Amino acid sequence: MTGFEHLKSALPANSWTDDQDLIAPWLKEWRDKYFGQTPLMVMPGSTEETAKVVKICREHELKIMPQGGNTGLVGGNTPQGEILLSTRRINKIRNTNPVTNAMIVEAGATLLSVQEAAKKADRKFPLSLASEGSCTIGGNLSTNAGGVHVLKYGTAKDLVFGVEAVLPNGEIYNGLTDLRKDNTGYDLSRLFLGAEGTLGIITAASLKLFPRPGHVQRAIAGVKSADDAVKLLDYCRTGNALSMFEVIPRIGLELVTRHIPDQRDPFEQVHEWYAIIDWETDDSALGQSVAEQCLMSAAKARVVDDAVIAQTEIQAANLLALREHMSAAQKHNGASIKQDITVPIDKIPEFLRQADKAVMKIVANCRPVAFGHFGDGNIHYNIAQPEDADRKEFLTYWNDISCVVFDIVDSLGGSISAEHGIGIMKKGELAQRTEPAKMMMLRTIKQSLDPDNIMNPRVMI
Ligand SMILES: Cc1cc2nc3c(=O)[nH]c(=O)nc-3n(C[C@H](O)[C@H](O)[C@H](O)COP(=O)(O)OP(=O)(O)OC[C@H]3O[C@@H](n4cnc5c(N)ncnc54)[C@H](O)[C@@H]3O)c2cc1C
Repeated sequence: MTGFEHLKSALPANSWTDDQDLIAPWLKEWRDKYFGQTPLMVMPGSTEETAKVVKICREHELKIMPQGGNTGLVGGNTPQGEILLSTRRINKIRNTNPVTNAMIVEAGATLLSVQEAAKKADRKFPLSLASEGSCTIGGNLSTNAGGVHVLKYGTAKDLVFGVEAVLPNGEIYNGLTDLRKDNTGYDLSRLFLGAEGTLGIITAASLKLFPRPGHVQRAIAGVKSADDAVKLLDYCRTGNALSMFEVIPRIGLELVTRHIPDQRDPFEQVHEWYAIIDWETDDSALGQSVAEQCLMSAAKARVVDDAVIAQTEIQAANLLALREHMSAAQKHNGASIKQDITVPIDKIPEFLRQADKAVMKIVANCRPVAFGHFGDGNIHYNIAQPEDADRKEFLTYWNDISCVVFDIVDSLGGSISAEHGIGIMKKGELAQRTEPAKMMMLRTIKQSLDPDNIMNPRVMI
């Protein structure tokens, strides 16, 4: 029996398909950058079924690529011949415990369904990304996703007590604790966080829950420069209230209002940059007063030119939509060379000055669209093609542009991957730019847990 026949005969009929029409949607990723192929997609319905798949694959030397919501942006979710293992059927909320503030969820649950389950228990699960309706908690942990609340709550890594995972030999590791203290050796669950499926398949996770704030106050501020945007961040910090600080440039706002229906500029005047800000407070009166105080003192110091404080939930949602539609709006703007980088927050303006100059040198008239999570130092530094350029020809500059951008990031003490991971896209850069001791440790861990290299073998290292 071949490995494929073995898998098909060992699994229930609804746990696999080789129908290429059914598989097709899962072979291309969101940005249309990577296109894949697989002979078989397996969709186990439980941890035990996942373990069975892995054992059979190991026996027959078949490689596996795990996939959750397929919203990853670095090519680590697009198979090239590996068995595609979808976690989407392993999606239950197993248990919510408001006393320990812990919730055990299965890996294929969407982030949105996890947030909603937390809300039902009068708690908050703070991870929040524009892709939350599709991405899964397993994918979030495997990519160590960031999103808009990192400045207050941290990345996915900070929001988890432990995971359950199927190891590359088919054994099940159970780290589903809700202990806040456990000093019994290496923190093995953390190995799987940000591992991009290279060390095993996360099948469930014990997540940290937080008190739900009484009110989230949102505002948008117009500022003259990236320097002022960074200065404004400091004016907005008050106690522990600040929970979001996202920035978009004028060109970004124009793209969203031009290409996405029902989006409008909240200001009459044009501003060079916009910050969209949230504060979590006990109630709306306090929220209004905190927002007013922060923005007034920034205005007095001439850091803010104008601001709008949301008065209703609809107004608040409309403001955030301007930021959330940035990626979709750029699809209408020709080809884009995209980088997800991070630098120390106070170096953001310097990064932008150096990077804009360097990329213009490579492609004259290209249009940098830098936006994102300025509150935690993460910039989505996307370079749109010049208006009249040939799309294909522009994309041939991807490596040259990445190289100069990453050189600047390195010189400023930043990271070439802030929140999207390494995948296929940055694998070469990781190997080149990482200190030898770290590369040695990454390879040693991979080799010892997955000696046959069956788990996501083309990704990261
Ligand atoms: C519009 C849009 C907005 C986005 N915004 C953000 C953002 O603000 N912040 C951010 O961090 N990311 C963002 N992303 C990227 C993406 O949503 C995240 O990387 C997300 O965490 C991926 O989850 P997924 O379930 O879709 O994973 P997939 O895309 O399916 O997989 C991603 C990687 O994780 C591995 N993997 C998936 N599930 C498992 C599992 N159970 N066990 C082991 N490995 C697994 C895959 O093999 C792959 O390497 C955005 C994407 C889009 C399209």
